[in-house]
Amino acid sequence: MAIRQILVAPHPTLRKKAAVITKIDESIIKLARDMIDTLDNAGGVGLAAPQVGVSKRLIIIWLPKEEPIVLINPKVIKHMGERICTEGCLSFPGMEAKIKRSREVIVRATDLEGNVFKIDATGLKSEALEHEIDHLDGILYVDKIEPGTLEKVTEKESLEDVIDDVYNQSHA
Ligand SMILES: [Zn+2]
Repeated sequence: MAIRQILVAPHPTLRKKAAVITKIDESIIKLARDMIDTLDNAGGVGLAAPQVGVSKRLIIIWLPKEEPIVLINPKVIKHMGERICTEGCLSFPGMEAKIKRSREVIVRATDLEGNVFKIDATGLKSEALEHEIDHLDGILYVDKIEPGTLEKVTEKESLEDVIDDVYNQSHA
């Protein structure tokens, strides 16, 4: 197990459509374990493989006081309702914004043993699932922000520079 480096926007891998995982081999199991360690170290509720530089369809969801969940090839099969969330992303350190998300989602995925399962989620879990699955299609939360709500919450980065970089790359 190891902590992997989390890519920060505007890294081009964050904009790629990630590949479907067709075989759960040792490299996928190691990737999932490393991502759990990385998420534990970084302190978020979710992480997508492209954020550690691996363009494959695997995400980790880890809510406070719960066990981490590994989802391979996750797909939202149903969205229900709408709500506004205040959201951040480990690839945009020190920022958050208001985003429109579903109130509830049903997601289908495969676990590390190859079993297909479904999650019916509301609240933070629903939001995290939508956010991380978006990463697999190169969609970042800054693409969806409610106008005027992006805020710098720490002094880590210059907000204007990060936004310029993201939009220069993603809309090129
Ligand atoms: Zn993110």
